[in-house]
Amino acid sequence: MADVILSVLAHPDDAEFLCAGTLLRLARERDWQVHIASMTPGDCGSTEHGPEEIACIRRQEGARAAALMGATYHCLEERDLLIFYQERPLERVTRLLRTVRPRIVLTHSPADYILDHEMTSTLVRAAVFGAPIPNFFAGCGHPPALAHIPYLYYCDPIEGKDALGRPIEPAFRIDISTVLDAKAEMLAAHASQREWLRKHHGMDQYVQAMRDWCAAQGRQAGVAFAEGFRQHLGHSYPQDNLLAQLLGPC
Ligand SMILES: [Zn+2]
Repeated sequence: MADVILSVLAHPDDAEFLCAGTLLRLARERDWQVHIASMTPGDCGSTEHGPEEIACIRRQEGARAAALMGATYHCLEERDLLIFYQERPLERVTRLLRTVRPRIVLTHSPADYILDHEMTSTLVRAAVFGAPIPNFFAGCGHPPALAHIPYLYYCDPIEGKDALGRPIEPAFRIDISTVLDAKAEMLAAHASQREWLRKHHGMDQYVQAMRDWCAAQGRQAGVAFAEGFRQHLGHSYPQDNLLAQLLGPC
């Protein structure tokens, strides 16, 4: 059976910003199966469409983007700005982990610009720890508990800084130069977001912003484009750096 990597991020286009290059390389070079999950369907991300309408559009965009690299998209159906550390989303992430059975899990930085990202990070950290414990959500109709805790990595926060503007340096970077164009194509599949970010964040050039960020990370590592990560190395989590071993840190 192929090895599996799962990204669990807050919103439908977060993976395409933060880690799709690494996912693409694992799929292409190592034949890993890729699953991309968002906690919400991005229901607040529009000034023109109502929440259910934009959610419907964005689920389709997420699925289309994932399909470009042969990945499977999952939406955990929480709601934008309403992701909390509580039982329902924790149960949903745990169920997803036991269904997909990843060897590596990627999520948001514990400190980031928006609480949705930070809550997702906390939920995923807890679910990764709990998914191998059979009594955790016993009786919820889940697939069997995982054999052990998967490798857990945190993507860079947006713009590489926390909410107070302090820089958060990645522990290592993955060279994504060979797959940058494919990553950009995936991000462009989120067409509804280009317009939304222009209006709300004043951020034009949606795809260019991703390219610029990856180029800045690449410069730090002496390559054209890169993505940065930190590994969760708390007690009982895997301690060796599997992701770097597979793709070579730069
Ligand atoms: Zn997000």
